[in-house]
Amino acid sequence: MIVGIDFDNTIVCYDGLFHQAAVSRDLIPVETSPAKEAVRDVLRATGRETAWTELQGLVYGHEMQRASPFGGVAAFLKRCGDERVVVNVISHRTRQPFAGPAIDMHDAARQWLNSQHWFSGDDHGLDPQRVYFEETKADKLGRIAATGCDLFIDDLPELLGDPAFPNGVTRLLFDPHATRVGMTEFQRVGSWPEVTDLLFPQGGR
Ligand SMILES: [Mg+2]
Repeated sequence: MIVGIDFDNTIVCYDGLFHQAAVSRDLIPVETSPAKEAVRDVLRATGRETAWTELQGLVYGHEMQRASPFGGVAAFLKRCGDERVVVNVISHRTRQPFAGPAIDMHDAARQWLNSQHWFSGDDHGLDPQRVYFEETKADKLGRIAATGCDLFIDDLPELLGDPAFPNGVTRLLFDPHATRVGMTEFQRVGSWPEVTDLLFPQGGR
């Protein structure tokens, strides 16, 4: 089996980080909910779309080393290594932020992955050669097809529902905050332990 996984907001959890970055720059009141969407909504509602764009550049770039993986990702990758399941990490991420200070956001993402110790030498079976940062959605979809994924996990229904999404690839919608409950087009998964149970249904080996 070959599994494909999105990166931002699927592997990496930014909960709290947008809030912290925005509060520390006096962009939002500290009482704002820590969810990324809440921070975005406050900035948009007050006409500060540019500040939101800059904040994304900061969080996905300079501040990203402070982000955490979603719970259970490491155990999932370890299990894939044990079961000889090939994992591709396939992300659509611009190389430079649209606004704010310049930084190579692909490098920042690779550094973050390195610091998790998930690569094969660390017994988790993730191969650095199978980590792809694409600059466009079309390239991401092309990569999902080219790497022969049997299954792809992503937090964005727009990606999974794209007309160019490759045929024959099972689509899992990662929905950790249960904000897409009404969406029946794709199978929803709420956590990485749930993904692990779904792919390895026997439980213990
Ligand atoms: Mg994502």
